[in-house]
Amino acid sequence: TGAELFRPLRDNAKGFDLSHAQTLEAIDTARGAFAAHSWEAYPLLAGTPDAEARTEPVANPSDPAGSPGTVRSATRADVETALAAATVWDAPLNERRAVLLAAAERMEARFGEIFAILAREAGKTLPDCLAELREAVDFLRYYAAQATNSPPAGIFTCISPWNFPFAIFCGQVTAALAAGNAVLAKPAEQTPLAAFLAVSILHEAGVPRTALQLLPGGGEIGACLTSDDRVNGVAFTGSTATALRIRSSLATHCAPGTPLIAETGGLNAMIVDSTALPEQAVQSIIESAFQSAGQRCSALRCLYVQEDIAESFTEMLIGAMHTLRLGNPWQLSTDVGPVIDEAARKTIADHVAHARTEGRVLAELETPAEGTFIAPTLIKLGGIAELEREIFGPVLHLVTFKSHELDAVIDAINATGYGLTFGLHTRIDDRVQHVSDRIEAGNIYINRNQIGAIVGSQPFGGEGLSGTGPKAGGPNYLARFADPDREHSEE
Ligand code: GLU
Repeated sequence: TGAELFRPLRDNAKGFDLSHAQTLEAIDTARGAFAAHSWEAYPLLAGTPDAEARTEPVANPSDPAGSPGTVRSATRADVETALAAATVWDAPLNERRAVLLAAAERMEARFGEIFAILAREAGKTLPDCLAELREAVDFLRYYAAQATNSPPAGIFTCISPWNFPFAIFCGQVTAALAAGNAVLAKPAEQTPLAAFLAVSILHEAGVPRTALQLLPGGGEIGACLTSDDRVNGVAFTGSTATALRIRSSLATHCAPGTPLIAETGGLNAMIVDSTALPEQAVQSIIESAFQSAGQRCSALRCLYVQEDIAESFTEMLIGAMHTLRLGNPWQLSTDVGPVIDEAARKTIADHVAHARTEGRVLAELETPAEGTFIAPTLIKLGGIAELEREIFGPVLHLVTFKSHELDAVIDAINATGYGLTFGLHTRIDDRVQHVSDRIEAGNIYINRNQIGAIVGSQPFGGEGLSGTGPKAGGPNYLARFADPDREHSEE
């Protein structure tokens, strides 16, 4: 019935209680069936795929011998086939909604397989797998509820990142579908299997194959999908550099005003003043900097601690870091898994090595021998300006400040040009207002962690170099997937 179908907007997925032993056992059993499974990903087209394409193994970041399967990447010919076959999803609004809601149910039912792919393809720990599935189904239900009869843009390209290979992939794709577009989805090169399963489930639930096509591949395929005048819009999550390239490509090749919805990097900071509750702040920092091995755009990179408490606070933080268990994400005891691949590991390790030569490494855990791991690390800095770029891993930078320097700290944080997340720990009410008024960031969190935005109640997105807005999981997102000309004339 309608009442069952249309849940209230704020009814987020409940998930599982991971502190309950029997629940954990049940999850382990469901996931265990796929411990040695080998998946396949290939272009899912409403036409004949190019037979010339090569098949390659997909890597497992924590276990070089445990490949989760194979991928056959799309070719230029496949992109042409997909563009020629793409047809907007013109089913009545209620049918589109019902299909998306049915897909959400199917995703929840297949949690074991989804968790297994996320652990073996993306190195995700169990809490991360659960968070990712919940966010994905929240996106489906939220966008289904938000869908309207506005005319779609047409063909939408969705390019998603490896750090949320299921949730962000589903979020982009289902926003575009809820708005009635034809979607061409290109998942990150490292994580085609999660995307393949998501598209398969959406097809099974009733999304037409002409309305949703999957094109696994690398930058070359992304470039084809963002430089064709048949493309009417792009949703992209990834690096700021790639977003800028896409913007100029759309300006050159596509109709004026073609929407680009971009969510990019951040140099996220947190300020802890001397009135903060230390235990609460330390817990928030550990989660914000090291959960998902620091591989979230939202993750904390630069922590400012007031000098008066810095010594004891840092000692407590380092103590908490040493309780983190680094290892294979399949193990239930693991807190921090691997980084995504060898290239990522090397970039981060070089950054840490450089800091080590300068004597700025304050704490560093031990790294396992196999797999692409980076141990949680704490590095001393003079200020956020010394961070030239986002270090996308479990590496936290620490700066101390004097109480009269608060405004200078805010200015320095704003001066990075990024503006995704920001955290503040203080018990001074006026300061909460003062700092939140001045900080330029999309998502500001007070006295809590700064990751894990919840669909519907914490729309997520950045300012400046961090993105173009509107925020994902928020009330203005879907409008950007509609026909920009008609939307405009209706205003
Ligand atoms: N939405 C996620 C969060 O709030 C981050 C998404 C990302 O890393 O791209 O933590």
